[in-house]
Amino acid sequence: MEEKLKIAVQKSGRLHDGSISLLRECGIRIDNGFDQLIAPAFDFPADVLFLRNSDIPQYLEDGVADIAILGENVVIEKEKECEVVEKLGFSRCRLSLAIPRNEKYDGPGWFKNKKLATSYPNTLRKYLMNNNIDAEIHEISGSVEIAPNIGLADGICDLVSSGSTLFKNGLKEVEVILKSEACFVKGPALNKAKQAVAGEILFRIRSVLASRNNKYILLNAPDEKLEDICKILPGMKSPTIMPLALKGWSSVHSVISETDFWAVIGQLKEKGAQGILVIPIEKMVV
Ligand code: ATP
Ligand code: MG
Repeated sequence: MEEKLKIAVQKSGRLHDGSISLLRECGIRIDNGFDQLIAPAFDFPADVLFLRNSDIPQYLEDGVADIAILGENVVIEKEKECEVVEKLGFSRCRLSLAIPRNEKYDGPGWFKNKKLATSYPNTLRKYLMNNNIDAEIHEISGSVEIAPNIGLADGICDLVSSGSTLFKNGLKEVEVILKSEACFVKGPALNKAKQAVAGEILFRIRSVLASRNNKYILLNAPDEKLEDICKILPGMKSPTIMPLALKGWSSVHSVISETDFWAVIGQLKEKGAQGILVIPIEKMVV
């Protein structure tokens, strides 16, 4: 029997739920009981491994795992042999420098000869080097935000999303070093069979992401306005137009992207569209 593809996901933490639900939407379902390290997927030639996010790049390099869902920030920090193939649009955050709120900040020069606490020493070292800043890096594995308050460091380099953790600890964000989100990452040495399975997963992920970013839209319009309305609504090829029972009116169906959504709705109403319905798309095959 072929060896199964091994998919690494975070065991517990911020990435776990998003990773499992994305896989589920891709038809890769597992029985995720507590405290298991590995779970076979139902009706799909893959096993899901539950690991520490920060350990996953090494496992990819070693071939213990073949593909993974993990934070891009971890891929960059660990500098292991693995490749970001697709960004997944969840667990967005940034790696930032923060200092006590009452400090006057006049640019990256502030950090000269300061002591900085972080769990991201490699990324921080590179940033400091690129900016010609000589500073001391103090590596700690968690609760970095308390370091300035207990006198361990002058500032920190840590992940931020809303900024509320910084705020609660009397810190302010002063520089963004990198932006990150969850990614589909591939190890260096997949055989042909595993490449094919990984390719199938990637295809499904792209279809799920496309469906998340797009909506199905239906509306009614007077026939003389159809040309204007079709210009606003390109659709996948072009919009579908069907006559209504009421003479002189048609129903228009199309797909619009979430990002354009509100602007497009406004324009459609202006052009005389009525009875606009917007419906989520379950899957969109790309
Ligand atoms: P491990 O699984 O190794 O214990 P961890 O303790 O760093 O990893 P989490 O704190 O759950 O795990 O973070 C996992 C990932 O979630 C981060 O690497 C990052 O990509 C992302 N993330 C998103 N927002 C934040 C945030 N505000 N703080 C920390 N991480 C965040
Ligand atoms: Mg942790």
